[in-house]
Amino acid sequence: MAQQSLDALIDRDIQSLVATYKVLHAAPELSHHEQKTAAFFASQLRTFGYVVTEGFGKYENPAFTSYGIVAVLKNGPGPTVLIRTELDALPVNEKTGLPYASTVKSKNDAGEEVSVMHACGHDIHMTSMLGTARVLSELKQQWSGTLMIIGQPAEEVVDGARAMLRDSLYEKFARPDFAIALHDSSELEAGKVGYTPGYALASSTSVDVKIRGVGGHGARPETTKDPVVMAAEIVLALQTIASRERSPVDPVVVTVGSIHGGSKHNIIPDEVNLQISVRTYKEDVRLKILASIERIAKGIAMAAGVPEELAPIVKVSGNQVTPATYNNPQLTERLASAFKKTLGEDNVVLVPPAMVSEDFGAFSMQQSIPSTMFWLGAVDPAKVKQSRETGTVLPSLHSALFAPAPEPTLRTGIKAMSAAVLELMKK
Ligand SMILES: [Zn+2]
Ligand SMILES: [Zn+2]
Repeated sequence: MAQQSLDALIDRDIQSLVATYKVLHAAPELSHHEQKTAAFFASQLRTFGYVVTEGFGKYENPAFTSYGIVAVLKNGPGPTVLIRTELDALPVNEKTGLPYASTVKSKNDAGEEVSVMHACGHDIHMTSMLGTARVLSELKQQWSGTLMIIGQPAEEVVDGARAMLRDSLYEKFARPDFAIALHDSSELEAGKVGYTPGYALASSTSVDVKIRGVGGHGARPETTKDPVVMAAEIVLALQTIASRERSPVDPVVVTVGSIHGGSKHNIIPDEVNLQISVRTYKEDVRLKILASIERIAKGIAMAAGVPEELAPIVKVSGNQVTPATYNNPQLTERLASAFKKTLGEDNVVLVPPAMVSEDFGAFSMQQSIPSTMFWLGAVDPAKVKQSRETGTVLPSLHSALFAPAPEPTLRTGIKAMSAAVLELMKK
């Protein structure tokens, strides 16, 4: 009975939701700039009877305005369940060629004009959330408790969740008993969902290293301390953190994503700058890696004869940092069983953990609130089959070619998220 009415409601709404998805897809907004997206999302939720607060969140940088949304539907006694969608898009120039492809260009935080695309599928998440919000507002007789929908800005730069918590989200509304999110998958077929109990996504920390030397003529290296050679040694030595300092069964990533220094063939520069991304699951491991980076950089500079006062400067970013996403195993297994009942055994698959990052983990308050994020298959099943047969790689999230199959993805997203909430709040 419950299943039937859920399916019937989704059937009724799906065409208009696909249209909503296409509108959102064609009008992406960058992190910190989600003004119109948030206003639209809020107005839709209001029409479904939710009490909506707009402009929620406080960034560390006071120049940014938060467009966070909190929508609450109180429905009798019972648990408070937080469900979250992101609102932001990415600086990517869409190349899907779809009729509803984005042609939007807008200014980023640095004032540069960039192309914008929903290349991470946050438009799928918002539309699924709207579908779920409406369905649950109409199935109120089947559940009891408080539903708290979060429209989170600035996920892609990982400061949106923190900004909302910093604005006392849980004190001003309610501290949830559970927190749930979904993320579309560029590998799973539309119609399926994936789950990962335990650590699912890594923490991410950005680190800048300024290697300082003593510059001079390229033909007179004996008068210099060459930061280019030091940088080369440091980049290679950093590889030993993962391979020699950490346990092989506790994954870490140390990637040097950017290296810049020098201006000309025959000049030894004064400095070289590295930008490093650190990924781990555990907080103590993260801190050890940050210490290793500093030790290695300083040690190599010292070995090269760089004086103490010119030792490398290692700066750990205070805002480009996000905790790991830990999926509470009990909650995750409970929801996986609910998904199996709703979607069928074959459509619910165990997915291995990954080292990409998300700021959803922040909502769990250091894992004190049971939370889980599940994967929502978003790829046309025919394309998945073809890629398996031919060994070709499908466009990943953040790719200019990422193109979810809207209808089956949205259907499954709404069904799965509604089933999750009903499981936790059923009467
Ligand atoms: Zn993303
Ligand atoms: Zn994303």
